[in-house]
Amino acid sequence: MDSAAMGRDLEKVLLSDDQIQDRLAELATEIAEAYEGKDVLLVGVLKGAIMVMADLMRHLPFSAPVDWMAVSSYGSGTKSSGVVRILKDLDADISGRHVLIVEDIVDSGLTLSWIRANLESRQPASVEICTLLRKPEAAKVQIDCRWVGFDIPNEFVVGYGLDYAEQYRGLRDIGTLAPHVYS
Ligand code: IMP
Repeated sequence: MDSAAMGRDLEKVLLSDDQIQDRLAELATEIAEAYEGKDVLLVGVLKGAIMVMADLMRHLPFSAPVDWMAVSSYGSGTKSSGVVRILKDLDADISGRHVLIVEDIVDSGLTLSWIRANLESRQPASVEICTLLRKPEAAKVQIDCRWVGFDIPNEFVVGYGLDYAEQYRGLRDIGTLAPHVYS
């Protein structure tokens, strides 16, 4: 879905499809250098990371297996509950493996810090994080993200896999919603 199809629901575009793709290509180059000579398992967090995983994989100059986790974080609102529950666990055993978590957004950081600790308890060789977006002003916990696409303001954003009440994930760009959508 293009931004024009959002009509009045879209307030502004923060990052265009082109900007996102250019940045993912840069990140893929850095990731390829970091994992040269090593096997890496890409772990995506459903559902928000679907687009970034799909595009990052296609930018990577090597083939890597992919696995998915689903956790509960937000309901249909816009604030993190801080309560994390595994809805779908990894299919793979990650002990002794290099794991790269591919995320859409780090907001408070509560969800990702929980996921990272959970994966680290399974004795992997390493765990690193690549997130497309990060909101530095919203951080409630310190998380070491090795690769960050863009630092963005502390605003609720949709598109490129990110939803509001399960809508707008298919928007190619990333943007903010008009106030009337929330009311
Ligand atoms: P955190 O625990 O606050 O870092 O956020 C965890 C999850 O909330 C993210 O993985 C997203 O799925 C969702 N989320 C956080 N901020 C936004 C946003 O601005 N738009 C859409 N989803 C968000």
